[in-house]
Amino acid sequence: MPAAGYVYDPLYLEHEMPGHPESPARLRAIVAHLEESGVLARLTKIEPRDATPDDIELLHSRELVARVRGAAEKGGAWLDPDTYVAPRSYEAALRAAGGLLAATDAVLDGEVGSAFCLVRPPGHHATPTQAMGFCLFNNVALAAAHALERRGLERVAIVDFDVHHGNGTQDCFYADPRLLYVSTHQYPFYPGSGHWAETGEGPGEGTTVNLPLPRGCGREQYLRAYSEVAAPLLRRFGPQLLLVSAGFDAHFADPLAQMLLDTRGYYEIAALLKALAGELCEGRIVYGLEGGYDHTALAWSARACIDTLLGNGFAEDPLGPGPSVPGPDIDAVMAAVKRAHGL
Ligand SMILES: [Zn+2]
Repeated sequence: MPAAGYVYDPLYLEHEMPGHPESPARLRAIVAHLEESGVLARLTKIEPRDATPDDIELLHSRELVARVRGAAEKGGAWLDPDTYVAPRSYEAALRAAGGLLAATDAVLDGEVGSAFCLVRPPGHHATPTQAMGFCLFNNVALAAAHALERRGLERVAIVDFDVHHGNGTQDCFYADPRLLYVSTHQYPFYPGSGHWAETGEGPGEGTTVNLPLPRGCGREQYLRAYSEVAAPLLRRFGPQLLLVSAGFDAHFADPLAQMLLDTRGYYEIAALLKALAGELCEGRIVYGLEGGYDHTALAWSARACIDTLLGNGFAEDPLGPGPSVPGPDIDAVMAAVKRAHGL
């Protein structure tokens, strides 16, 4: 089993607004659990670098970079009603994006087989021109752009299982046939985008795949979405690198959303993605942390994903399985998605 790497830096804790759910305590909870469980000791540390403004401008406007930097320099500001900038947030955001870049390089250079980036602020709502939804710069999307523009890759896939639609990632690559974006998300829900009929445009037609799921979906519905739609579309696309926007706010314990996924469900999705990466791209898979606001669910679910990279079995978590209710019928939406993508 090739080594699995991780990225972490204490600077990620300095992006902070007291009382806000996207808090440093999230990352502290994950790291503490990885240390206590002995999982961290089995991972290879990858040093993050600081992304440069040039790196960020692979996808984002110069104006957005200046806005985030300016807000931090003046001591902090709110960029929208949800999205704060604290005095160290610009530096933290550059290092979060740089963490994804470093991990992607480490995987493409064969220094590690796979990686999990324990970064914040998160990124998938950040559009080319706008910070929003707790996100400043789009870490995972920037890693994809780096791989495509600078590392010579021709096809990269991003799978996004955060409970919210990654509108920023979708916007970055909507017309780009080199990037397959696959998102499962609660719908209708924040930020409002992510209908199955949003499939890309121009040369990128068909390379945006939205699986909008009704509230109340659990392991059964999620595994159907991944095995019946995500897996065949990833096989058809044939990525050379698989990136994952890893949000754990679809967990039943999460306070911000209404899905019923459990930690075992995250493990099973991650195991499926690892198998696909093994089949399609020599195992090259890089995770970037997005949301997840119940700290126990977050820590154990992130660890569950890392366990798949290490070849470990599922570790029973204290929250246990999700509520045993049948869950909504997703036949119609699954049929619509399949029809939209020729499956
Ligand atoms: Zn989210």
